[in-house]
Amino acid sequence: MTSPLLDVRNLTRDYVSPSLFGSGHSLRALDNLTMTIDAGAIFGIVGESGCGKSTLARLVMALDRPTSGHVLFDGEDLYALPERDLTRKRADFQMVFQDPFGSLDPRQRVGRIVAEPMHVRRPRLTRSQTRERVVDMLESVGLDADHAERYPHEFSGGERQRIAIARALITEPKLVVADEAVSALDLSVQAQVLKLLLDLREKRGVTFLFISHNLAVVDSIADRVGVMYLGRLVETGPANAVFDAPLHPYSKILADAEPGIDKFGRQSRPVHIPTAQSVGIGGCAFRSRCPLAIDRCVQERPELRTILAGRLAACHRAEDMLKTTLASAAP
Ligand code: ADP
Ligand code: MG
Repeated sequence: MTSPLLDVRNLTRDYVSPSLFGSGHSLRALDNLTMTIDAGAIFGIVGESGCGKSTLARLVMALDRPTSGHVLFDGEDLYALPERDLTRKRADFQMVFQDPFGSLDPRQRVGRIVAEPMHVRRPRLTRSQTRERVVDMLESVGLDADHAERYPHEFSGGERQRIAIARALITEPKLVVADEAVSALDLSVQAQVLKLLLDLREKRGVTFLFISHNLAVVDSIADRVGVMYLGRLVETGPANAVFDAPLHPYSKILADAEPGIDKFGRQSRPVHIPTAQSVGIGGCAFRSRCPLAIDRCVQERPELRTILAGRLAACHRAEDMLKTTLASAAP
C-alpha cells in the first residue's frame, strides 16, 4: 500500500485566552483529529461554523502550531522540519481562501499577483519563463492571457476566485487546501468553480482538502468526507455513502436538511449550538442535540471507530443507525 499524501495524526489545538482572574480560559478548537488523504483525492470537510475547520486548514498549511499531534506531508512531519526545509516544502501545499478580494493585493496587476508565489518558491525562473507560466495558469483556470495586465477590482467574484486558484496552483503544489473557497459565490458561479477544481484534479493530479460548512457543496465535489463537530471528526467515509446513509446522528441531521439550503446560518428556527467546548468535557459533545442519546453518551466519549469497511463513526449508537438505514433501504 502506498502511504497517503497527507497524514494528520491526533491533532489537537487549544486556544488559551488570558483571564483577568487567574488561570485563563482554554478552548479546544481541534480535539485529537486523525485523518489521511491519498494523492489525487478530494477530501471534503463539512461542519457548522466554529467547529474547527479553519484551525485544521491552518495546521495542515503549517501556518500555526498544534498543541499536540502531527501533520505528515509526503511522509515528512511538518512541525519537526527545520525552518529551511519547511520553506522549501511550502511550494507543495497552497491555500485558497473564501474571500479572494482579501487575499489579492488591489494595487498589483493580476499577472504579478499570480506570479508572486513563484518568486519565493522558484526564484531561478527567468522573466519570460515566469510570464509563460502565468499565462498558462490563467488559461487553465478559464481566464485570458491579457487579464494579466488588469487589476483585481476589474473582475467579478467568480473571476477573482479563479485568479486566487491560479495563484495557488502556479508552484504546482501537490495539495491545495480550499477553505470555504466557493462560499461567497452565487450558486451558478459556485458550480463553475467546483467544475474547475474537478478539471484541475483531472488534468494536474492536484489533491484537495476541500472545506465548507455547506454539505451540498462538499457532496458535489468530494470523494471522501469527514463530518466535524466541535473540533472532532464524528464520521468519515465515501461522500455518497455518508450523506445517503449516515452512521452518525449529526451527519443525518446535516443530510436531512433541504438540499441546496444552507442548513446553518439561514434556517428559520435556529437550533441551539454549543459554541465552545471546554477542555476535558466528558461524554459525547453532541449528546445535547442528539435524538438517540442514551446514558452511556453522558458517561463515555465515543471514539472514531470502523463500523463498515471504509466507514468510521464516533457514536455509541452507530450500529443502530446502520440497522435503521438498512431497514429503510429494504424493499
Ligand atoms: P470554523 O472554521 O469551523 O468556523 P475555526 O477553526 O475558525 O472554525 O474556529 C474554531 C474555534 O476556535 C471557534 O470556537 C473559534 O472561536 C476558536 N478560535 C479560532 N481561532 C482562534 C484564535 N486565534 N484565538 C482564540 N480562539 C480561536
Ligand atoms: Mg472557517
